[in-house]
Amino acid sequence: MKNFHPADKIQDLQYFGEFGGVNPSISDSSTYTFLSAKTMFDTFEGNADGCYLYSRHATPSNLYLAQALAAMENTEAANVTASGMGAISAVILQLCKNGDEIVASRTIYGGTYALMKNFLPRLGIKTRFVDINNLKEVEAAITPATRVIYCESVSNPLLEVANLPAISLLSKKYDLKFVVDNTFSPLMITPANHGADVVIHSLTKFINGSSDTVGGVICATQEFIDALRNVNDGACMLLGPTMDSLRAAGILKNLRTLHIRMKQHSYNAQFLAERFEQDGLRVCYPGLQSHRSYEVMRAISNSQFGYGGMLTLDAGSLVKANELMEMMQKENLGYLAVSLGFYKTLFSAPGTSTSSEIPLEEQEAMGLSDGMIRFSIGLDANIDRTYSRMKECMKHVGVGEEQGEIVM
Ligand SMILES: *Cc1c(COP(=O)(O)O)cnc(C)c1O
Repeated sequence: MKNFHPADKIQDLQYFGEFGGVNPSISDSSTYTFLSAKTMFDTFEGNADGCYLYSRHATPSNLYLAQALAAMENTEAANVTASGMGAISAVILQLCKNGDEIVASRTIYGGTYALMKNFLPRLGIKTRFVDINNLKEVEAAITPATRVIYCESVSNPLLEVANLPAISLLSKKYDLKFVVDNTFSPLMITPANHGADVVIHSLTKFINGSSDTVGGVICATQEFIDALRNVNDGACMLLGPTMDSLRAAGILKNLRTLHIRMKQHSYNAQFLAERFEQDGLRVCYPGLQSHRSYEVMRAISNSQFGYGGMLTLDAGSLVKANELMEMMQKENLGYLAVSLGFYKTLFSAPGTSTSSEIPLEEQEAMGLSDGMIRFSIGLDANIDRTYSRMKECMKHVGVGEEQGEIVM
């Protein structure tokens, strides 16, 4: 589906505000009036399309944002949530009950990992963690109790790209739901085009892009989205991970520039990754031919948006990683902070931050070294200058000195 153009799909939506504004009006109400008591009853029964009931169920602002994200992800519908974790937990609890199982990639966001490993067992839901691109291992983990295969299209923090078409064939063979977290690769990868049944984003990251709010979205069939919002048994309606309308309006405005931002994040990250690799540093970026997912990424990504804004670099040890990050922050090259998708570069050491929920021995098995720094590369206008200044910091800290011997 190389010729799928998600940015055009967003562009083609047209909204007017209440007074002809170029942005839709923000709905600033928690509840809605009905002209007749009968319509109120029908709405509760789910039979009054287009009527608003109560803002935990739906708001006009949230529906506008959901519609744009469904267009981007090429799904029939979407529902926005208060956070990415709100989206993930609602999807899983909608799909799984006591006794059910999940087969999940072991390289996933730390919060998702902790949810599956520590919290869901309390509800009798068991997760088997696998190397998601080892299809034999994935298939062997499927049991009659399995309901869901779960992965991230580009994994956190190792940036492995999941072979979505191959995994989706397995999920169809065993009649499972294939759930994909696409947070690292909006516009770049369209999981629904490769067989994903449910696509999730943390809007907190690239999509909103201004590190000023948390948010999430679930993109899926109309039937699944209706089920999530059902007043009697819908996880979104009953667990209450509702996005505020004011935030939805803000995120929709930021979504307008996502295609420009993604191109710039990718351009800058590719530039730095190539330079770092030439310098003999241990860098991991899916846009490098040396990356183990390079071919998969090429095969499944949409054109135009490059290989994304995330890269990792091994500083050799945690001490050096910490020293380098502190120095780069002091030199104003970015912020020592978790999260991603900001205009400014953000960096953190995943082993002691975003992936710290994962036990040490499992981190090692995954290939997560303790000197690893995860970068979310910013929108720097002059990335060459950034490169030179980062290299100065590395020289100062002594990063890369011992690596010439290891990397030929
Ligand atoms: C941040 C993140 C989440 C969680 O999203 P929140 O908005 O922080 O709840 C889930 N998945 C991935 C890949 C993330 O990066």
